[in-house]
Amino acid sequence: MRKQFVVIGLGRFGTSVAKTLNILGHDVLAMDKNEHAVQVIMHDVTHAVQADARDEETLRALGVRNFDVAVVAIGDDLEANILITLMLKEMGIPYVVTKAQSALHGKVLEKIGADKVIYPEQDMGVRLANNLIRTNVMDFIELSLDYSIFEIIASAQFVNKTLGELDLRAVYKINVVAIRKSGNQIVIAPGANAVIEEKDVLVVVCNKKALSKLPD
Ligand code: ADP
Repeated sequence: MRKQFVVIGLGRFGTSVAKTLNILGHDVLAMDKNEHAVQVIMHDVTHAVQADARDEETLRALGVRNFDVAVVAIGDDLEANILITLMLKEMGIPYVVTKAQSALHGKVLEKIGADKVIYPEQDMGVRLANNLIRTNVMDFIELSLDYSIFEIIASAQFVNKTLGELDLRAVYKINVVAIRKSGNQIVIAPGANAVIEEKDVLVVVCNKKALSKLPD
């Protein structure tokens, strides 16, 4: 479903969020107080406006209250970051995501009602470290402290074997929820007869520690 997003603060992070949402086919209102930042993104989003988002009247005039999601991507100006998050929540935007500078800042944002607080640099650091540890992990989503969904390149030892033969659940405590084949074809909830082919990517749910026991 096409959603409406407002992205406030068009630094590197906000710009990349706004452009990606637009590429994914959503309506994006991008806002920055700096005219140059607005001009740079103008052709890559639905609307781009130069405005100081601390001004409640401006937000109302732009109809920001009707948006589904707001992303507050202002970095250095803590006061603006916090105030704008608060105003957006008070206006009734269902989902407000705000970028935090520190854990303490994040705590404040949670207290004032931010639905999601993100720490882009910290998050990227964790992601990179996880990817570096095991080169065959392409991506992952953290489900809890212990469990994640991982995308892993199938081990050479698995090739031409069926999931039934491999019995990964019993042997490694790994659940295969999908297999991504070449050409972006995907097999969801593969059965015991599914054969692993070379270059297949397995989407698995497992304990993080279980992954290190897998053969390369
Ligand atoms: P990054 O680290 O992602 O590059 P920055 O903190 O450098 O992020 O960029 C934040 C952006 O937010 C800047 O372009 C700045 O002009 C904009 N900004 C700061 N305060 C406001 C405000 N009150 N209203 C709108 N935009 C703002």
